[in-house]
Amino acid sequence: MSMKISVPRVWREIKAHYLLEATVCNKCGKIHYPPRPICDNCGNRNLFRRKLSGEGEVLTYTIQYIVLEGYREYAPIVFAIVKLKEGVKILAQLTDVEPENVKIGMRVKAVLRKICEDENIGLIKYGIKFKPV
Ligand SMILES: [Zn+2]
Repeated sequence: MSMKISVPRVWREIKAHYLLEATVCNKCGKIHYPPRPICDNCGNRNLFRRKLSGEGEVLTYTIQYIVLEGYREYAPIVFAIVKLKEGVKILAQLTDVEPENVKIGMRVKAVLRKICEDENIGLIKYGIKFKPV
């Protein structure tokens, strides 16, 4: 069995997530995260890069007790839709909080954390999680 992993692609994604980089349309002002080269609102191709604050609040959340292999050490996992100050909504894991203490409207900020581990190929993925402020 062969397996292909695009290492440059993985690192690009990690970088974008780490930097919380978005693209902003210079015509209609729509913010795209993850970054897109073309505005999906007005079709404009003239977008500029902007770093998001990483600060926001929990809009809604769900607790997952049964999780995929590679994520088990983190179970149960709390997934939340976080609305950033800029208005962008991000689906991400919450960290540093017990599931029973998560509340809608809770203020959170982004931190870089290990997302999962694939023991078969020794790959560790990092990404953004949100922790209470
Ligand atoms: Zn636009």
